[in-house]
Amino acid sequence: MKKKLKVFKFGGASVKDAAGIKNVAGILKTYKEDPLMIVVSAMGKTTDALERIVVAHSNKTGESGILLENLQKAHYAIMAELFEDGHPVFDEVNDTFVALEWVLDEEPHPNYDLLYDQMVSVGELVSSKIVANYLSHVGLPTQWLDARDVILTDDIYREGWVQWDETVENALNIAKPMVEKGGFVLTQGFIGSTKENFTTTLGREGSDYTAAIFSYCLDADSMTIWKDVPGVLTADPRIFENIAKLDRLSYKEAIEMTYYGAKVIHPKTIKPLQNKSIPLYVKSFLNPEATGTFIGPDVDDLYPPMVALEKNQALLNISTRDFSFVAEHHMSHIFTKIAEFRLQVNLMQNTAISFAVCVNNVDDRVHKFAESIEKDFKVVIDDDGLELTTVRHYTPQTLEMLRSGKIILVEERTKNTVQMVMKVVQELKRKD
Ligand code: ADP
Ligand code: ASP
Ligand code: MG
Repeated sequence: MKKKLKVFKFGGASVKDAAGIKNVAGILKTYKEDPLMIVVSAMGKTTDALERIVVAHSNKTGESGILLENLQKAHYAIMAELFEDGHPVFDEVNDTFVALEWVLDEEPHPNYDLLYDQMVSVGELVSSKIVANYLSHVGLPTQWLDARDVILTDDIYREGWVQWDETVENALNIAKPMVEKGGFVLTQGFIGSTKENFTTTLGREGSDYTAAIFSYCLDADSMTIWKDVPGVLTADPRIFENIAKLDRLSYKEAIEMTYYGAKVIHPKTIKPLQNKSIPLYVKSFLNPEATGTFIGPDVDDLYPPMVALEKNQALLNISTRDFSFVAEHHMSHIFTKIAEFRLQVNLMQNTAISFAVCVNNVDDRVHKFAESIEKDFKVVIDDDGLELTTVRHYTPQTLEMLRSGKIILVEERTKNTVQMVMKVVQELKRKD
């Protein structure tokens, strides 16, 4: 029987240096006989570095050139460990960076978000060129695919929304024949294109989502994301102790946790997979033999308490100026504006004359939203050190541990979930 397509996603941590790329090639050797589509992110912290270059260029601080030079040097140092002098990859990567140098030579584009996407996408373009060339170099023939030829988005830069009909059509016309040709097909996470051929990005950490888009369009048999953790854990190991790996998760659990900030999977990833019942595996690139976490349909396990923490929250208290009730037409107006500014609503509560809403505090969008409704509503914004903690399958002990040293500003409790908007208490300390 013909083998079905698998989609693998390797994130920034897995390809952060030459040893990482060699390790990825080692994993992929085992899958040599399979039809495989590979999605890669920018190497290590490249996207953060590119963001700093965009800011420097846009603000004309004079530092953008040196910052870019440092980033180029870091990439060339990795390439020098992977390829002999004169390998064509050096020219390919150089050409991509030169295009960025040209952008820096020009006046910054007045549309910051558009400028951001044209510049930041370079991270994925160069990493994908390096990894694809390296795989071919070590006997794993790999075709390079420009994800922008397949993924069509709207023109909301930095948060492009996929235009599904066109994207499916492109995937069938462009990516599928490449897969059928044999060997691996490798493409970039995170990036897409508008119909005018401007590059867009899908939102930070969006490469998991890209892999899910390709899985959906090509009816993949399964998708695997390779991480630096053994699988999905009950909480972020950078913040909590005594965590455990979850062997199995339903799509529903996974979507609930990732939407509210479990950083291990991008929240948009689950829906396309669920829609076609494609299983998702989260596995460790440090221990590829281990089973990891299975996310799929028909999982109805009993779960332990699971915690997701989302920092950088803003709590908005919105009230009518004339003491009238916050009625349906007010809500409708407020939500139209929330959608317009693409704010993610994490929690809401209303009283007769006010409405509290907790959203991710992204850039200046929250303040712009507040300005847009201030004619009709009084808006008080608290965005000083706020965190949102979501606990699924909570126990009294877990809640007590999480609340310690915190002020709870808003809390909401349902049968399976507690959500708390919290602030760290500044403890008084004696000087002597
Ligand atoms: P990538 O290399 O794909 O970009 P990320 O760094 O985005 O990987 O995601 C992996 C990280 O997610 C882990 O190192 C871990 O610190 C963090 N993380 C947060 N919540 C969880 C969780 N519930 N389970 C596992 N990892 C988590
Ligand atoms: N490189 C992008 C980021 O760091 C996308 C991703 O890694 O998923 O946000
Ligand atoms: Mg990431």
